[in-house]
Amino acid sequence: MSPAQPGPRAKALRNPQNPQAWAASMPPLQRFLAACHADFRSDDDGAVASYIPELGKADPAHFGISLATLDGHVYEIGDSRIPFTIQSMSKPFVFALALDTLGAARVESVIGVEPSGDPFNSIRLNAENHPFNPMVNAGAIACSGLIRETKGENAFETIRDALSRFAGRALDVDEAVFASERATGDRNRAIGYLLRNSDVITVDVGAVLDVYFRQCAVLVTARDCAVMAATLANRGVNPVTGEQVVSTYAVARTLSVMTSSGMYDYAGEWIYRIGIPAKSGVGGGILASLPARLGLGSYSPRLDKHGNSVRGIHVCEALSSHYDLHMLNRSDDARSAIIADYDIGASPSRRSRRVQERNILAQHPDAVRVLELVGTLSFSNADYVSRQLARSPIRPQFVIFDLRRVTAMTPAGLRLLVELFHELAEFHVTVILSGVRRSSPEWNDITALTGDISNVRDFYLLDTAIEWAEDQIVYRYGGAIDFLETTELGEQPLLAGLTAAEIAELAALATINLYQQSERIIAAGDPATSLFFLRSGVVHVTLPDGVRLATLTAGQAFGEMALIEPQRSADVFADFSATAFEIALSDFERFRMQHPKAGETIMRNLAKLLADRLIVANARLDVLKAD
Ligand code: GLN
Repeated sequence: MSPAQPGPRAKALRNPQNPQAWAASMPPLQRFLAACHADFRSDDDGAVASYIPELGKADPAHFGISLATLDGHVYEIGDSRIPFTIQSMSKPFVFALALDTLGAARVESVIGVEPSGDPFNSIRLNAENHPFNPMVNAGAIACSGLIRETKGENAFETIRDALSRFAGRALDVDEAVFASERATGDRNRAIGYLLRNSDVITVDVGAVLDVYFRQCAVLVTARDCAVMAATLANRGVNPVTGEQVVSTYAVARTLSVMTSSGMYDYAGEWIYRIGIPAKSGVGGGILASLPARLGLGSYSPRLDKHGNSVRGIHVCEALSSHYDLHMLNRSDDARSAIIADYDIGASPSRRSRRVQERNILAQHPDAVRVLELVGTLSFSNADYVSRQLARSPIRPQFVIFDLRRVTAMTPAGLRLLVELFHELAEFHVTVILSGVRRSSPEWNDITALTGDISNVRDFYLLDTAIEWAEDQIVYRYGGAIDFLETTELGEQPLLAGLTAAEIAELAALATINLYQQSERIIAAGDPATSLFFLRSGVVHVTLPDGVRLATLTAGQAFGEMALIEPQRSADVFADFSATAFEIALSDFERFRMQHPKAGETIMRNLAKLLADRLIVANARLDVLKAD
């Protein structure tokens, strides 16, 4: 079977001449699920469960599939919104709830985790007279008993609330199915009394069975099942609502028993062939949860002899084999974690520096190392990052970890990263974090682990982080960054090569302006009618979208693009109080006409300054790794 092949209708719509073609385009996974639905809907094998009389009324033709991704997208096809009773698919969720509500020790003391190899309704207990595992009826009834034991009359509502949070919506009960099973469920009653006899159930058996029957009669859709399964696949966080529904401890243990026993006496075969933890219910549902990938829900009421939905099994088989999703066939490329790895020699900050500062930094190009990380920081990724850092023979004095593109950190990745910070602290290397806000959960996760380590600094903007580290290098090697220094026009690189008389003439054309801290000196979009030469203080140039282009200190020009562009393209703000010479463009142009040689020198200086900026910008692009 190759369900990814589009059918004839899909082909017709794909004709690029057809104006509807694009509108009908589908993500491949939607197309795959649609093809599965079309291929398996004609399979009439199996029979609707009838041992609970009310279940026998299900329409055997119903068939719905849904797949939820961990970024919260839900694919659906067919009868994915038809409600049916959850039945045994409630078992993993109630087990997880019991672990969190009563504590693992209590739950694990009365319910085993070994596969029984028996059918779901087996009356057999293990050697300790305990249920084999929580996925067969005996174990599930024991779980419901534990919830009843602590929550009393509220037991069922506690369960309904938990199931609803897994599904991301309030779930109802099919009272008719509940009543029907209650009236006929003597086999489960037998199991209940057996559990009471071995003290697994400590409260009234009838009350416990009512909780169990009612939890089995909760109404879900294939879509709900996909979201519930995806919540397990997502370490307990519902990917649609974002809610952490149960603890990660409970999730891992629940998926474990789903793996070993979720499909009853077909469990071994299932995990061998399909390799995705799953759970079925006699209502016709199957949910499958592939950790870190997806949740699948399907609904089709015809069951095989094990009580598993026939078409649902086909869908899971097709999904697993077509995309090679067996959970034990996994690999990961840790090297994708680093998108750029460079030092300030290769790509300095955007701060225009004076000669003395530039010379110091040029002598220590590898004193500051920058690692721009991307994606999920996992165990393997963080380990790779630490080895990349150690690989270079030169010990940097500052390492900047830019986390702006890190979308998630696994607990293992976080732990390795913080262990790396500690290692760097031993070598007196300062760690600088950028791209992570102090108000973010990631920041809390990091600082919770770093404890009292004193070598970690943070700046939200990467460029600010690089600039700060560069300043430290300048100070360490005897330089000074004097924001109070005043420079004269003659020190301006743009005016280099002019005679003293020409400089004096320009000075006479200039006004000296004083700007307060944060004052806007130039506004993007305004006509460019003058040039500025920073005399003292610091200003920065920012694009209208907030990207900081450059930080300038005394002795540098800004607004000089007025010589070639009629409009200001960026904002300029004073960082500290600043003074600047301002020369009107018309005066400047007149000066150039009267002193053509000086005019030519200025234009050549401008070309040189622009070329320098281009080199820095290109270096920035180059550091984004192409290999
Ligand atoms: N309520 C059903 C029972 O206990 C659930 C069984 C199942 O879905 N496998 O028989």
